[in-house]
Amino acid sequence: MTYQLTLIPGDGIGPEITQAACRVIEAAGVDIEWHTVYAGQDIMAQYGTPLPDNVLESVRKTGTALKGPVTTPVGSGFRSVNVALRQALDLYVNLRPALSIPGVKSRYEDIDLVIVRENTEDLYAGIEHMVGEDAAESIKIITRKASERVTRYAFEYARAQGRHKVTAVTKANIMKCSDGLFLESARHVAESYSDIEFEDRLVDNMCMQLVQKPELYDVMVMPNLYGDILSDLCAGLVGGLGVAPGANIGDTMAIFEPVHGSAPKYAGKNKANATATILSGAMMLRHLGENDAADAVTAAVRQVIGEGKTVTYDLGGEAGTSEMADAIIAVIQK
Ligand code: NAD
Repeated sequence: MTYQLTLIPGDGIGPEITQAACRVIEAAGVDIEWHTVYAGQDIMAQYGTPLPDNVLESVRKTGTALKGPVTTPVGSGFRSVNVALRQALDLYVNLRPALSIPGVKSRYEDIDLVIVRENTEDLYAGIEHMVGEDAAESIKIITRKASERVTRYAFEYARAQGRHKVTAVTKANIMKCSDGLFLESARHVAESYSDIEFEDRLVDNMCMQLVQKPELYDVMVMPNLYGDILSDLCAGLVGGLGVAPGANIGDTMAIFEPVHGSAPKYAGKNKANATATILSGAMMLRHLGENDAADAVTAAVRQVIGEGKTVTYDLGGEAGTSEMADAIIAVIQK
């Protein structure tokens, strides 16, 4: 069978790391016809928008995409393509596992955490405006529907993966209305999952707890902004952004992409670590039911990193993006 999948290379380091990931995924024996569509800064001049309609159309058609990071100008300029994609396609879950890889330098061993981040609302709804010249207002939207469905996903995921606990993370002591609603919704959903432990934490305490006692946590579910921040924190626990994969998941579509951004300073230098994108590709293969191929890719990545000979600069090596991908492919093909 040939899968029809969408490829969004992105910008910055996106094109080189997605190319490396596609080569690794195909080496695992899965037949894929990629529909490549372009989004981001570089496409802006040609199409007048960083997110042309054909990108959304392609994902709607294929249902599954692998995506590289896309640059978002800070402060001014166009709105985030990533946020727009997630909202337009109603990809309401951002799933970000943080799993230690032997050989990756980190102060921690045996980290095995999963962040389930609400992906469509909160302060990322993009409703903000100036109030006169010297004040600005951003509106934080939290709905019962979005809070319940993301929490339900977290519990279903925990159950399917044999995990034991879901922790809801909020700041409901201060934002009693918005975060209060998220927590109330999470507690309501938890009542239907008596086989999975449920607890809640305040986000500030959670940051400290994750640094001091990460082994106490398992699956965590939270509104968009906290999920954005905590997933970088968890990436730090497992050795950095270069190894942290992710997925944006809706009821009928999914886009797989690394947690990290477009790292513009490394663009076109064959320097960036493609591991996070390759592991996002492994998540994609699992989503497609190609578990053997996903296992082969994951095992090969772990072997190459464990050996430490052909790894990129961020993992203490001197290999380029493409050389590290070649080493992973060689292990898969053995
Ligand atoms: P970044 O993730 O691009 O980079 C942060 C740091 O991590 C940098 O030092 C970078 O060199 C390093 N790094 C990141 N990925 C790496 C990799 N694969 N290999 C080796 N080193 C890596 O974060 P930033 O600098 O805050 O953001 C740059 C741009 O990316 C911004 O425009 C931001 O909006 C965008 N961004 C996009 C996404 C996405 O497309 N999903 C996510 C986050 C940030």
